[in-house]
Order: sequence, then C-alpha cells, then structure tokens
Amino acid sequence: MEKDNVLQQKMFSEMHDSELFRKAESFGQNYLDNVFDRGVFPTEEALNELNKFNENLPEKSGDAIETLDFLNTYGAPATMAQIGGRYFGFVHGGIVPVSLAAKNLATFWDQNASIYQSSPISSTLESVVQKWLVDLFSLPSETVVGFVSGTSMANFSALAAARYRILKNLNWDVTKKGLLNSPKIRVVTCKQAHSSMLQAISLAGLGTENIEWVDVDDEGRILVDQIPELDNTTILSLQAGNVNSGAFDDFASICKKAKSEGAWVHVDGAFGLWAGATRQLKHLTFGYEHANSWAVDAHKTLNAPYDSGILFCNDEEALIAALHINAPYIPNDSERNGMYYAPEMSRRSRVIELWATLRYLGREGVDELVYSLHKKSLLFAELLNSEEGFQVQNEVVFNQVLIQCETDEITDKVIKEIQKMRECWVGGSIWNGRKVIRISVCSWATTDEDIHRSVKSFRNVLKKFKNNLL
Ligand SMILES: *Cc1c(COP(=O)(O)O)cnc(C)c1O
Repeated sequence: MEKDNVLQQKMFSEMHDSELFRKAESFGQNYLDNVFDRGVFPTEEALNELNKFNENLPEKSGDAIETLDFLNTYGAPATMAQIGGRYFGFVHGGIVPVSLAAKNLATFWDQNASIYQSSPISSTLESVVQKWLVDLFSLPSETVVGFVSGTSMANFSALAAARYRILKNLNWDVTKKGLLNSPKIRVVTCKQAHSSMLQAISLAGLGTENIEWVDVDDEGRILVDQIPELDNTTILSLQAGNVNSGAFDDFASICKKAKSEGAWVHVDGAFGLWAGATRQLKHLTFGYEHANSWAVDAHKTLNAPYDSGILFCNDEEALIAALHINAPYIPNDSERNGMYYAPEMSRRSRVIELWATLRYLGREGVDELVYSLHKKSLLFAELLNSEEGFQVQNEVVFNQVLIQCETDEITDKVIKEIQKMRECWVGGSIWNGRKVIRISVCSWATTDEDIHRSVKSFRNVLKKFKNNLL
C-alpha cells in the first residue's frame, strides 16, 4: 500500500500493531482482576499523581504505546472502583461482563449510529432492542424508543415531544413558530423532582418559574390529591424512583385520569423504571403504562456501560417532529434512522452493548439482577438499623437506603470518614430537613459479604467518633 506521509505510515503500522491493542486488553484485564478488592476511592498518592496529566500539548506526534502506558499508569489508580461491589454512591451502576466485552469489540468498528446508511448494524439492533424493551416494560405497542446518552437527554427529548404535541393540538407548530407568542404550556411536577427534570424544563424553554409545584409525602411521592386540575395544555411529570428514597409515585391513581383530562404524562424513571421490567417488583409501577413518555437509564440499574439512556414515547409523530433534522444528504428510506429519535445526529452506537446485555440476561436475568439489588438494600438497611447510632429513614421499596446518625454533624463526619477509609463509598443528601447517608445498591457485583464489610466500616467510624478520635 502506498503511504502518503510519515504520520499516515505510522498510523497504518499501529493499526496492525497487535502489541498496542493487546496491551490495552491486558491493562484492562489487570484492572478487572484488582477492582473488586481494592479500596473504592483512589488513594491520596493516586490523586497527587494526576498532576502528571498537566503537561503541555506535545509539539510532535508521539508513540502510541507510550501514550497508552501513561494513561494506564496514572489513570487507572485514579478511577473510582465503581464496578466493584462496595460502591454505593449516587445512583450509578456496575457493568455486566458481556456488555463490556461487546463494547470493546464494537470499539474497533467505531460506528456512527445516526442513520441506517451510516451503520446498518446499529439501525438493526436499535429496531430489535426497541421491540424487546417495549415488551419487557409492558408498554403500549405503539411506543417507540430513542437511544440517548442518559436520562437527562431522555427527559429533555420527552418534553420536546410533549411540547410539540400540546401546541400542535392548539394549531401551533412549535418547530416552525417557536415559543414566542405561542399558547402557554403548563408544567406540573413534585417538589422533589430530579434536578435533571428541571434542567429539561429550562432547556425546553418552559421555564422553571412556571412550574406548578406539588407537595410530597414522607417518602417523597407526589401527593395525589394536591395535583391541580389538569388540561390539554399541561405536562405532568412523575417519578419512578425518588432519587433519595427510591419511592414510586402512585401511577395507578394518577396516569389514566391525567391522560383523560388531556395532559401529557411523563415518567422520570432513571433507575426505578426497571422495576417495571421485572416480575417481582412490577407492582411498584402499576398504571405507568397510561403515561405518554418514560425515561430510563441502561447504565444504572441494568449495569450496561455508560452512556446509555432510553427514551420511550407513545407518540412517534410528535417525537420525530420535535427532534428530527432534515438535509438534502439524509436519505428518506424505510429503515430505522436512529437520529430521528434522539437530539443528536452523530452518536456512538451505544445500542450494541445494550443489545448484548439484554440478550445475555434475558427476561429472567433482568428480573434476578434488579430484584437482587432490592434484596441487598434490604439487608443493608436491616443490618444498619440494628447498629447503635444508625437509623434507616425510608421505606426500602427499591435500592435506596437513607441513614441518619444522632446529629447532622455526626452524619457529615461519618460520611467523610467512610469515604476516606475506602472500604466502601457512600454519599450524603438531605432528607426531611436532616442530613442523611445515602446508600444506593446498584451493582450486580455486590455480595452479602460486601454489605457486612461495609456495615463494619460504618460501625468502626462511629466508634472512632465516640472515642473522640474524629
Ligand atoms: C440519574 C438520574 C437522572 C439523570 O440521568 P443521567 O443518566 O445522569 O442523565 C434523572 N432522574 C433520576 C431520578 C436519576 O436518578
């Protein structure tokens, strides 16, 4: 093959340099071999070594293997051991092995999932996975799926579709006329709506100051009898999984009625919607099928790799009208063009890993995975509740456990110290006006032993505190 210049020649030989790619694989394998036992948060030393990345942009093209070595040496130790069994921070998620392997394979393909013509495999898998998901979540058969980066984008895309549909019904085409001088859209949601929902409301031009806020009960569920009169200009946003308590709104009492009043009902179910894909926890989502749109992450509860959000929408026309871009070079063919269902044009083919995860787990595997997270969180709650100085504050209906110590000061100190000990990792939050430790069981890799170890770390920290060592 003719090589035009030195850089090109170098890159051709690197493409065929099995050492380069084998190294990446062996570094990765080595990481997997250690991640389940190492401290969860990086050591002070690893954090200090991050300074090594503070270098000037090199003037000349360098050596591929040296770059990879550098990344592994200073990057790997500074990662959070999120895929291990003792990371309970935020509401993240572990990783199913085959999804990681499929992602690695697909990395070599580097597909652009925008349209069928740019990647037939991506389009095909999007169609297949859409069918699987709609069935798995028992959603109406007309529901379509957009594969987006996360629930933030799924929430935004849902609002874009809702906005289009509501205004279209009022003879206003928002894609052409915009929101200036349009009829007003009402937005109703609860006082504990996730911050990404507020971001979506602001991005969609609906304005957070226009929100009609509804109070919540002790578990963070929207109070059904406080929901204002709805109409065909209203978007009602509900939650499957309060980000602190994990509580589910009462869909059975709300969705059907809201829809009959003409409102568009959206469900933010970033981690909790997965209950609807199970046999054993499905009852938490009863009635949600009467909503219009639903958002969920594959990278949280399902343990698929980042970034993988899923948008379900039962109004394909509105979704496509709201998100779709047109250009003379975009073919109008009958195959699925994934970009019509997402706000981005070029996208990584995230559906590949999602497909692999679902194909591997099957219906029963999804059920078992999600239910096991619930069972582990029940164990965590039970063990901590029987420890002196720790009190569970929520009803553990899904995977979230909120813990309070005697005072906010102790709670704060305990969180900081637990993080420093690195035996496990938990974050904090505010619940009913008090500081709490927020535990989120999200990884398939968490074992009962991990939970016992973590509880011991809680106990030791409190003991230290009581002995005035903190
Ligand atoms: C995580 C989360 C989001 C945001 O999802 P991303 O995937 O981070 O964009 C929205 N809502 C809830 C309830 C969440 O837990």
